Amino acid sequence: MPTRYLFSPSISGFINRTEVTLGLAMTCITYLCQPHNDQECSNEELQENVLSGFYSLHDYSSHTWFELILGCISSSEEKELISQLTSPLQLLLELRANNEFSRSKQVPPPPRLECFKETCPDVYDLLCNVASFRRLCEGAEHSKIRVRIYKVMNELLCRTESHKEMCYCDTIRNHYGRRIFKCSVVDCQFRRHGFETRSARAKHASSHTRPWKCADPSCEYANGGFVSRKMRDRHLERYHQRKRSLEEGLARVASTTCSVKLAHYLISRGANVEGRQRPRYRTPLRHAARRDSYEAAKFMRFLLLQGADPYAPFGKLTNRIEDEKGPKNISKWLGKSWDAVVAEAKEELGRGNPDQRGGTSYEALTSHAEAFAAEEESTG
Ligand SMILES: [Zn+2]
Ligand SMILES: [Zn+2]
Ligand SMILES: [Zn+2]
Repeated sequence: MPTRYLFSPSISGFINRTEVTLGLAMTCITYLCQPHNDQECSNEELQENVLSGFYSLHDYSSHTWFELILGCISSSEEKELISQLTSPLQLLLELRANNEFSRSKQVPPPPRLECFKETCPDVYDLLCNVASFRRLCEGAEHSKIRVRIYKVMNELLCRTESHKEMCYCDTIRNHYGRRIFKCSVVDCQFRRHGFETRSARAKHASSHTRPWKCADPSCEYANGGFVSRKMRDRHLERYHQRKRSLEEGLARVASTTCSVKLAHYLISRGANVEGRQRPRYRTPLRHAARRDSYEAAKFMRFLLLQGADPYAPFGKLTNRIEDEKGPKNISKWLGKSWDAVVAEAKEELGRGNPDQRGGTSYEALTSHAEAFAAEEESTG
């Protein structure tokens, strides 16, 4: 349901956004001030509290209270709200401030906090500390108590698939949901969302020990990553450079000989039919479109049958492909108009039948050298 209906004063029983945000902020702050969130709790006390479900609000509160406050003070009623917020915030500051963390000079506080600066400088300082810490490790629940809560919980849960007699697993799941195995890495999204099993978390944790990711988002190593930078670089060189040189090759063929054989070879080796170094460069099809020859005409038809997009944009150039020399004069060479060629290719592709006329015999070619030799033979 669009939020404008929920929050619109024009409907009866509407939800006053500022009021509920403030209420939620107060709840979170009060909760964080309660004794079970005290850093001084012993491990025995923590165990007892975990099993009683006292921490089911912990992640939500510690994650959200600051955003809720920013939500309150961004509204027009903020001046009035500040007076309601200052005393709970002062209590929070007194009980929960992390004195080991002092405000980093490089991170400026959010401008919205300015309204606290004069009315309540202590609270302003507290909020600035939290704000800059938040920015240093985005979204992390960072308190020492949280680390201890999850350590205790982890120790209470069975280590193996088969459960111990009278174990606590079900009790803990009832209180905290199914995803109770949290990742311990500070800026990881699974620190909050967790996993259902220990083994799923262990599998996930291995991704943190492979921090060097491949830069190509389509590559399987874009997420998994490598243990060292050297290994990642070697991978980039071996797999991505080669792909790039194939695409460079295709662009060259398209802007010179328009050899279908060579293009077929390059595409069969992995060159992307739209391949180009930068989005502003011409696609192979647009290179060929600048030429008015039988070779270029055949070449364009071949690329279309390989799935090239005739309308792929490039750079700031606005002239349409139909206005280029090649497509304009294509009927002279192929006996049909550009639109007919495009439509035919589309139909062919729709039948799940990518080009057969490019000649499967070229599949047999195994190296550039052979392809070039074949090319020379046919033209020479
Ligand atoms: Zn168990
Ligand atoms: Zn993680
Ligand atoms: Zn890769």
